Amino acid sequence: MVVAKIIFVANLIVLIAFFGTMPVFIKIQGAFNYYFDYTAALLENESGQVYDFIVVGSGSAGAVLANRLSKNNKVLVLEAGGDPLFYNYIPMLSNAMFGRPEVDWLYKTEPQKFSGKSFVNQQFPWPRGKLVGGSSNLNYQVYMRGNPNCYDNWANSTGDPTWKYDNVLPYFKKSLDYHGQFAENKEHYGESAYGFLHVEKRKWVPPLHQTFLDAGKELGYDEVDVNGPQRVGFGPIEVTQKNGERFGTFSAFIKNNLRGKFNLVISRYSHATKLKLDKSGRAVGVWYDRHGVRKFASASKEIIVSGGAIGSPQLLMLSGIGPKKHLESIGV
Ligand SMILES: Cc1cc2nc3c(=O)[nH]c(=O)nc-3n(C[C@H](O)[C@H](O)[C@H](O)COP(=O)(O)OP(=O)(O)OC[C@H]3O[C@@H](n4cnc5c(N)ncnc54)[C@H](O)[C@@H]3O)c2cc1C
Repeated sequence: MVVAKIIFVANLIVLIAFFGTMPVFIKIQGAFNYYFDYTAALLENESGQVYDFIVVGSGSAGAVLANRLSKNNKVLVLEAGGDPLFYNYIPMLSNAMFGRPEVDWLYKTEPQKFSGKSFVNQQFPWPRGKLVGGSSNLNYQVYMRGNPNCYDNWANSTGDPTWKYDNVLPYFKKSLDYHGQFAENKEHYGESAYGFLHVEKRKWVPPLHQTFLDAGKELGYDEVDVNGPQRVGFGPIEVTQKNGERFGTFSAFIKNNLRGKFNLVISRYSHATKLKLDKSGRAVGVWYDRHGVRKFASASKEIIVSGGAIGSPQLLMLSGIGPKKHLESIGV
């Protein structure tokens, strides 16, 4: 009994020390990364360079594009944040990373009238990752492809059959290194180690997990693979982790693929502020701020804006692409 008490108190002290010192370590590592990059930037002569492609934002989308395009092209990635911090790799700490300027854009919603009463000014925080790998460093890591019917509906409503689920399925498989519990379904998951994004069964499941699955069965639903050919049902989730560690797009598509890739330049702490358009309205260059210095780079092929649901439209609007009246009213 005494031993159990000692172990309990010791664990408690370790936990308190871990969480108590976390903000300090985040600040220290964030500052170290920033100033390391600041010094490196002094030695680089990146401004005015011409690349084949420029990718703005290296989040879930941008990291994949940077990886694929740099196979045969010279690619510049402009990312407003730095590399993920130690704590970003710990799956359970997603929420603890929200609201930290080293990794989050600190967006807030408009003040709400009827909700958000526990927040200052009734404004909800709206976490978005500001680092290489973007929001995949803060998210809950659930690997969820979505319902095939949604893709088929997009194909119907856009008139573009490439959106059909059967047409996007090969790309899901191509991106995946699947180690989950439905591995025998090769048609749906491909071979393991086929792609880079490691997906696995959760290493730790909450005690109520099985109770929820049993409850579903009791109601007459089957236990299903939520990413498989879908039926209505209940099923276990799988996660973008490797051996229990967060495996976001930084780990999957950038960190483990940089060796020997001299044609992929990742410019960290580089905030794109405006696109340069030629006379025909085609984007040919990007102005960006890095450590307080205004820089410019141009692309001979394409500029891809993958700054996320907030960053992309913002950059387009700053470049004069968007609702005319609104842009005029703020002097763009
Ligand atoms: C709390 C939370 C939990 C989530 N949980 C899940 C989940 O469990 N499963 C799931 O599938 N999805 C989840 N999501 C959603 C998922 O993470 C996002 O949909 C996805 O990461 C978006 O990818 P993105 O590339 O569009 O944008 P992001 O990943 O946000 O990347 C945008 C990148 O662009 C950079 N950027 C923006 N503007 C500029 C600029 N002007 N110049 C330079 N760089 C710029 C940003 O710093 C960022 O790195 C979650 C999201 C959040 C916030």
